[in-house]
Amino acid sequence: MKDLTQCVVTPDVKTDGFEALGVATHRASTIVFKNAEAYATRGQRGHEGYTYGLYGTPTTRTLEAKLTALEQGVRTFLVPSGQAANSVAILSLMKAGDKILIADTSYPPVRDFANRDLSRFGVEVAYYDPVSVEDLKTKIDDRTKLVWCESPGSTTMEIQDLPAIAEIAHRHGALVGCDNTWATPLNYKPLALGADLVTEALTKYISGHSDLLMGSITVRSEELITPIRSTLGRFGIGVSPDDATLVLRGMETLGVRLKHAADGAAKLIDWIERHPLVERVLFPSLPAFPGHDIWKRDFLGVSGVFSVVLKPAAVPHAAAALDVLKTIAIGASWGGTRSLIAPMPVRQNRSATNWVEDDLVLRISVGLEDPADLQTDIETFFDDIVCRTGTVARAR
Ligand SMILES: *Cc1c(COP(=O)(O)O)cnc(C)c1O
Repeated sequence: MKDLTQCVVTPDVKTDGFEALGVATHRASTIVFKNAEAYATRGQRGHEGYTYGLYGTPTTRTLEAKLTALEQGVRTFLVPSGQAANSVAILSLMKAGDKILIADTSYPPVRDFANRDLSRFGVEVAYYDPVSVEDLKTKIDDRTKLVWCESPGSTTMEIQDLPAIAEIAHRHGALVGCDNTWATPLNYKPLALGADLVTEALTKYISGHSDLLMGSITVRSEELITPIRSTLGRFGIGVSPDDATLVLRGMETLGVRLKHAADGAAKLIDWIERHPLVERVLFPSLPAFPGHDIWKRDFLGVSGVFSVVLKPAAVPHAAAALDVLKTIAIGASWGGTRSLIAPMPVRQNRSATNWVEDDLVLRISVGLEDPADLQTDIETFFDDIVCRTGTVARAR
């Protein structure tokens, strides 16, 4: 072999005997075939076979297999973000003339996608009260092909009765999809409770370090494999094996990270709840939280994301007071090592329910810091609000 050829040909190196604990990062667009026959029949390799980098590598398949096992499904597909998981899953299952019913408290970009794109393609988009099975019963009809859930709801944390919702949907011939980003498959198993597909923003807890974007779609039955896989192929959607490697690494510590975040959140909430500036904390493990009983029945735990409704007098000062925070960073997304806070408007993202409390809710994601430092930070924040308003101080 001449030098130039030697430069591009991969030599045969023994791999037997090399038993690493993790999977290698397999980068490939091209997959080569042993002979012309193998190439000609590559389409028959099935959804587990390898034919082209876009359709999977041993690295992405390893991550998919881990997620499939945890979600108790039959197959997982990786996509470039959590939002892509939601939009691709929904798009794969809808056609013009169909109707979709979306929980009113769904992740706001899902609403945006439904209102702009699904309706543009002739799908009827309707919203239902996430906690009212009666509302769903009234709105569902035989054109409804998909009921979309997210439990707890984005920002305001409403817990859905998934088994009851699935029973109603299936009776009308509709499928059920559920965004499981808050709980992760460690704390909630939507497929075991009746959902037909579950999505995750791996961007959040599962990768765990705020340094990448990825999403997953896991299906409960074989019939959903082809519609989703073929949509991904036609749209040309795949993920980088390097990112998949990072998710695989992050996922190994998911259990300890989640536990630390949940314990930290519990400590912080216990203190925040009793603060005079606070109206209430939205978190499903609190016994007084509406939906607590369903959470207790269906969930295996909590994560470290909760929301705080402030007393009306404190709200106008909350945004400016965020600037005093030292440990907690201001930002969206969550599930990384650093604690984050974000002021979230509620009413603009509701159409089937009525949010009667103040429109601004503070969402807090507890990270891996010492909770004592987080409490100190929030004390400073509350003190700053008190300084900005004499009336609240007197209300103590
Ligand atoms: C963040 C989030 C997503 C989207 O994840 P990205 O990877 O940022 O697109 C989807 N659903 C929920 C509930 C989320 O919190």
